[in-house]
Amino acid sequence: MSPANEARELLSQLGVGGSGGLESRSPIDGQVIGSVAESTSTEVSKACERGQAAFLQWRNVPAPRRGELVRLIGEELRAAKEPLARLVTLEAGKIVQEGLGEVQEMIDICDYAVGLSRQLYGLSIASERPNHRMIEQWHPLGVVGVITAFNFPVAVWAWNAALAIVCGDPVIWKPSEKTPLTAAAVMALAERALQKFGDAPDGLLRCVQGGREVGEALVGSHRIALLSATGSTAMGRAVGPRVAERFGRSLLELGGNNAMIVAPSADLKLAERAILFSAAGTAGQRCTTLRRLIVHESIADGLVARLRELFARVNVGDPRDRGTLVGPLIDEAAFESMRQAYPETEQVKIGDGGFYVRPAIVEIDRQQGMVRQETFAPILYVLRYREFEEAIDLNNDVVQGLSSSIFTNDMKEAERFVTAAGSDCGIANVNIGTSGAEIGGAFGGEKETGGGRESGSDSWRAYMRRSTNTINYGNDLPLAQGIEFGV
Ligand code: NAD
Repeated sequence: MSPANEARELLSQLGVGGSGGLESRSPIDGQVIGSVAESTSTEVSKACERGQAAFLQWRNVPAPRRGELVRLIGEELRAAKEPLARLVTLEAGKIVQEGLGEVQEMIDICDYAVGLSRQLYGLSIASERPNHRMIEQWHPLGVVGVITAFNFPVAVWAWNAALAIVCGDPVIWKPSEKTPLTAAAVMALAERALQKFGDAPDGLLRCVQGGREVGEALVGSHRIALLSATGSTAMGRAVGPRVAERFGRSLLELGGNNAMIVAPSADLKLAERAILFSAAGTAGQRCTTLRRLIVHESIADGLVARLRELFARVNVGDPRDRGTLVGPLIDEAAFESMRQAYPETEQVKIGDGGFYVRPAIVEIDRQQGMVRQETFAPILYVLRYREFEEAIDLNNDVVQGLSSSIFTNDMKEAERFVTAAGSDCGIANVNIGTSGAEIGGAFGGEKETGGGRESGSDSWRAYMRRSTNTINYGNDLPLAQGIEFGV
């Protein structure tokens, strides 16, 4: 079936109607598969005002009750997992297995957030004054603006929205202009959950559609207390200072340039599988994609030969086909950027359209030029090292700091890699690849990756404001630091 016909069926199954000026093209064949109405700047500011009004109500709803809405969203996602995943495949080009994985991630974060709704805790702190109690509370923050990238068209909304809702914050979502249909489908599911919930305030969950200008309108609104933006470092560089200018908060999840060290003691069978998934999966279009392989010189020849064989055999094709492991790049611009970094790139012809490429391996002896940038395509650069410290230095010697990993059976190396003097990335793994994180941990990276953390651990704190309270239950008024002040 053509992507356009399949999209029509899926959209009606998911309850999405309407059309408009923003067209969506499937990377599978480059053809239009649907359209949505583009939001005007007036509509964005209205959504922000409604969001603020919703905040004033929602912050008073008990957090476990707020969690009930997330539970209902999770139920809708469970029921719609298959069609939503297939729509992700049509619109973002990832293989069906990865589409299903993306929706599963949404379900997982909903489950996590439901539990979290009963676990939003503060501290009690010893006061220096008699009959005084000091506590720290976490309160809802305000409207959260969420800007997302094309490559995780739905999961990133869920990472943010599930936490924001239980934390007491309305959410306004600006999805990628390349993936408006999956966003519309998620909003239709959320709408059903809102109906079942019954009394959620209008404006609690909104979506504004369009490109950069629509994102900019959201970034500039003083109603947005937290702007969570996922995308390129160039986008973050534009967004961060604008939010800071108005003293808003931002959570930036930007580009990566992720490395894996393969040490002489590594289990090479495991390493090969991890490299294949991390470097070639999602056609190299994950923020955590493996882009630099740092291999010990004693094992490099054998490993590179084996990887070349695997990369040559991997099925490149229609992401809907069972045997396909590498689907298309998102569009022609992505293909051109791969060609710029690696001029030998050839287009693999699949049907009449779409930009398909075979993952590439490029051996280099220095980290310079394009290797230092994130090219959002499947190019794996291979470097050799002699001393372990040299490998760590290479891992850290780029401006990005998202994900990293080491394959080693030497316990000392494994431990060194995850110490303060080891990998400087937000994610440092041992004997697994750089991509495919679980939602239970905090996700994000350092340096030009932006410093934001989403998902598990204590990431929820970014969606709340901290209030320190000192309570005097005595009959005197002692001042802190023993200060005497009186007449
Ligand atoms: P992109 O930066 O082109 O666009 C991302 C989003 O930002 C889109 O919705 C876009 O419309 C919006 N945008 C762009 N400029 C803006 C501006 N000045 N103001 C407001 N909004 C603006 O990124 P992309 O091509 O969609 O996605 C790929 C990039 O995203 C890669 O760099 C990848 O590493 C990164 N990414 C990072 C993470 C992470 O968690 N660190 C996750 C996924 C993707």
